[in-house]
Amino acid sequence: MPKWDVIVIGAGAAGLFCAIEAGKRGRRVLVLEHSDRVGKKIAISGGGRCNFTNVFTTPDNFLSANPHFCKSALARYTPADFISLVEKHGIAYHEKKLGQLFCDGSSQQIIDLLLRECQTAGVEIRCGCQVLKVNQDDSFSISTNQGRFESSSLVIATGGLSIAPLGATDFGYRMARQFELRIEEPRPGLVPFTLTSSMLKQLTKLSGISLDALVGCDGQDFRENILFTHRGLSGPAILQISSYWKPGTPISIDLLPDKDVLGMLTESQSSAIELVNLLAQHLPRRFAEVWCQLFAATKPLKQYNGPALNDIAERLHDMRITPASTEGFRKAEVTAGGVSTTELSSQTMEAKGVPGLYFIGEVVDVTGQLGGYNFQWAWASGFAAGQAV
Ligand SMILES: Cc1cc2nc3c(=O)[nH]c(=O)nc-3n(C[C@H](O)[C@H](O)[C@H](O)COP(=O)(O)OP(=O)(O)OC[C@H]3O[C@@H](n4cnc5c(N)ncnc54)[C@H](O)[C@@H]3O)c2cc1C
Repeated sequence: MPKWDVIVIGAGAAGLFCAIEAGKRGRRVLVLEHSDRVGKKIAISGGGRCNFTNVFTTPDNFLSANPHFCKSALARYTPADFISLVEKHGIAYHEKKLGQLFCDGSSQQIIDLLLRECQTAGVEIRCGCQVLKVNQDDSFSISTNQGRFESSSLVIATGGLSIAPLGATDFGYRMARQFELRIEEPRPGLVPFTLTSSMLKQLTKLSGISLDALVGCDGQDFRENILFTHRGLSGPAILQISSYWKPGTPISIDLLPDKDVLGMLTESQSSAIELVNLLAQHLPRRFAEVWCQLFAATKPLKQYNGPALNDIAERLHDMRITPASTEGFRKAEVTAGGVSTTELSSQTMEAKGVPGLYFIGEVVDVTGQLGGYNFQWAWASGFAAGQAV
C-alpha cells in the first residue's frame, strides 16, 4: 500500500490550496474527492465569476465562537498574497464593490489556477473517491472505494452542509465526532428568510422590489439592498444579517437610513401632500402603497398629529419583521458553526488532541460575511495547514 505524507479529503478551495502548499514543500500529497470533479462550489461562486477575495478582509468579517481564532491564519496569508497568485496566472479581475474582487472572465479560471498549481507541486487528485472508513494507528489509514491509502497527516477539507447537490456532506463533522472533537452546532448562513404565511400574504405585492436599507439584529447591521421575494426576504443585506439571526427574534429594517424622516414629514405638513405620495418620492411607489396599507392609512400629512408622525417616522426607520425561518442548507451560501476552534491550533489548524489531523475551510467554526471572505478563509486556513502537514 503506498504511503503518502499528506492526504487531503475534499477538493474544494481549502483542500486544493492546502495540497498546493504542502506539495510545494516537497510533501507527497494525495487529494480525495467524492464528486466527479473538483471545485464545484468555486465554479458557481460569485454568479459564475468567483468573488475570490476581499481587499478589506479583517478578523471582524468572520463569525466564530472564538472571534480571535482566525487572526493568525488571516495575517499569514492575506488578500494581497492571493491577488499576486491570480496575477501570476494572468487572470483579469475587477473590484465590483466594497473591496470584492471578481474574475472578469469566469470562476473556472480560479479552478484552473488551482489545478495548474497542484500539477506543478506534484499533487495527485482522485475524483469519484468515496471514503468508507478512517482509522488512526501510527499513521492514518483511509479505506475508500478506490482502495486503501495511508498517510502521516490527514486534512479534512470537506466544507459544510450547504447545497448538497454541489457535493456537501456531513463528513467533516462525522470525523470530528469520531476523534471526539467538539462541534458548534452547524446552521445555515448567508441565506434568505422565509416569512409566515400571513405576513407573506401581506407582502406578496412587493415581490421583486429591491431597496437600499440598513438591516440589523443582534448588535450587527448591514447597509445594502434587500429584496422582497415570493418566499420571503433576500438580497445582500438580508443574507448578511441571516448569519447573525436567532430563530424567533425580529430583524429591524431602516428603510430610509440617510433621511431624517420625522423632519421630512414635519416640513411637508403645511402642504396638501398625502403620506403615500411623499413616501413614493423616496421609496418605490408599490412599496410605499403596501407600507401605508400595513402601517399608516394614508391621508394628507396635515391631518396627522405630532405623535402619529413620530410613530410613522419610527416605523420607517425601524420596520420590524420576525422571519418564520430561513431557506435552510438547501439555499445557504455557507454553513456557520462547525468544528470548534477550541479543539484546533490557530497556527496550524491541527487538532490539539490528535496529532496529524487537521481541519480547514468551511468545516471549521469560522464563517465569513458575504463578499469574498469565505474564500479568503479557505486560502488562509489551507495555507496555514499546508505549512505544517
Ligand atoms: C452559491 C454559492 C456561491 C458562493 N460564492 C462565494 C463567493 O463568491 N465568494 C466567497 O468567498 N464565497 C462564496 N461562497 C462560499 C464558498 O464557496 C465556500 O465558503 C468555500 O467554497 C468553502 O471552501 P471549502 O474548501 O472549505 O469547502 P467546499 O468548497 O465546499 O469543498 C469541499 C469539498 O469536499 C468535498 N466533499 C464533501 N464531502 C466529502 C466526502 N465525504 N468525501 C470526499 N469529498 C467530500 C466536496 O465535494 C467539495 O469538493 C459561495 C457558496 C455558494 C454555495
